[in-house]
Amino acid sequence: MPGALSCSAEACVHNQGGLCTANQIHVGGTNATTSSQTLCDTFAEKGFTNAVTHIGNMNIMGEIKQVFSNGSIQMSPYIKCDAEKCAYNSSRICTASNVQISGVNADNSEGTKCSTFIE
Ligand code: SF4
Ligand code: SF4
Repeated sequence: MPGALSCSAEACVHNQGGLCTANQIHVGGTNATTSSQTLCDTFAEKGFTNAVTHIGNMNIMGEIKQVFSNGSIQMSPYIKCDAEKCAYNSSRICTASNVQISGVNADNSEGTKCSTFIE
């Protein structure tokens, strides 16, 4: 299982109570040297069209396990990441055990960032 991921971008169709329901996400930030130069490319604004379009990327088993989890994070997507300067990046895969995606006021990908980035 991938590391635990929390996300504050509540306007994203994949966000459910601060957790991410996607199977897989893509974090952008080629050449990023700071957290603010990264973003979650998988962000899609909540709404009927995106709910239908993104249904193929839903972690349904993770959602079921989450219901019975007593608070531990079961819903964590596999993370592909372009920010190769991040210490947790290994061949464009994230190896961090806890990832925080931030985007409290985000209404698009540009408003999000990976706060766990460390050079
Ligand atoms: S912004 Fe990214 S990490 Fe956050 S819920 Fe959406 S897809 Fe998941
Ligand atoms: S912690 Fe690093 S490798 Fe993982 S998603 Fe964030 S920027 Fe990418």
